[in-house]
Amino acid sequence: MSEKPDEICTRPQSVRVFPEPSTLPIYPAAVYECQSTGQADQLLGGEIEGFVYQRDGHPNATVLGEMCRRLHGGDGSAVAFGQVTSTGMSALALALAAVLETGQHVVISHQMYGRSTRLVVEEFGRWGLSCTEVDMTDLDAIRAAMTSSTRMLMVETIANPLLDVVDLPAIAEIARQNKATFLVDNTFATPMLTRPLDLGADLVMESMSKILNGHGDLMMGLLCGREQYRDRVRDGVSSWGMTASPFDCWLATRGIATAHLRVERACENAMQLANWLAGQPGVQQVHYPGLASHPTHQNACRILGGRLFGNMISLELRGGREAADRFISNLQRVRFCPSLGEIATTISHPRSTSHRGLKPEKAREMGITDGLIRVSCGIESFDTIGEDFENAFSAMD
Ligand SMILES: *Cc1c(COP(=O)(O)O)cnc(C)c1O
Repeated sequence: MSEKPDEICTRPQSVRVFPEPSTLPIYPAAVYECQSTGQADQLLGGEIEGFVYQRDGHPNATVLGEMCRRLHGGDGSAVAFGQVTSTGMSALALALAAVLETGQHVVISHQMYGRSTRLVVEEFGRWGLSCTEVDMTDLDAIRAAMTSSTRMLMVETIANPLLDVVDLPAIAEIARQNKATFLVDNTFATPMLTRPLDLGADLVMESMSKILNGHGDLMMGLLCGREQYRDRVRDGVSSWGMTASPFDCWLATRGIATAHLRVERACENAMQLANWLAGQPGVQQVHYPGLASHPTHQNACRILGGRLFGNMISLELRGGREAADRFISNLQRVRFCPSLGEIATTISHPRSTSHRGLKPEKAREMGITDGLIRVSCGIESFDTIGEDFENAFSAMD
């Protein structure tokens, strides 16, 4: 008896793949077939490992999350889970939602990624959370900001955009003494430079949209942490709908495969470019934690391992906004793309992009001037980048 077309069309035959493929397949299935009510019950209750519904978990997220967990310390370390999410912001929102209750207080860095500050102050503010912003390089200021209702301390390992490296172990100690969860945004550093959970953090978040995936072709976030947060985080991803898609996870698994090489190359380029920029007459100041002149160079040597100092540089051009515009249009290869961590070197202008919402006096106080340019070094050869910068400076006068 021949099958009817609708039977053929709606139920493709599954195929047993033998031998195993050498790379990870993509599993886009929204739902998996259960064998019995008992099995469904056990799968959904977490008594047996497996998948039922994509929003709760899928093989591509499991594989990627496990790679990230191992990058942040793996077995025998403080890291109990690696959860990937749809964006970096959803990983941060998940961390806050998993830990905090209405009426509690959060202490955050005064130099944070703009959206992160807005998430805490504006969004969670509406849910009854209060917040104090402090300079995280000033330990006394952090201590003074802690109150009896402070339940979270939140910093970036390398702060945006002046690239201050904070003393993670010292801040972890303040959090511990105050029974506050210590959350670190490690996006600029990556686990290749430092693993905050080894230094006393409770939760670590990273935007994988940046250098970790590194190819500028997806949005994703990562949240790693200690055992006590595992269940809340896993349930939160599904309840808040923050799951990353199988295709994006699969792409990121490809991206991460070369992250150790890319990070190394990009950091070496940054060190060389920072040294070169420091000798340019058109540059008033170079902010790079690898330079001895950077105010947090000592922290950077201790926290980042003393060899690589990140791929981000900020430089202050003489001549303000006008000089910034001329410089941007003089560059031929290096493009003005207000993000970071791409294959190619890119630049941004914080005052008109990430920090455009700041009031003029606050921007001045933070050192975010109209002439400030932020460079994200890529993995070209240094000569390619250096030549473009050299030409751009020559065309300034
Ligand atoms: C990009 C970024 C984020 C947000 O990540 P998305 O993937 O863009 O949502 C958070 N923190 C830092 C430091 C970032 O650079």
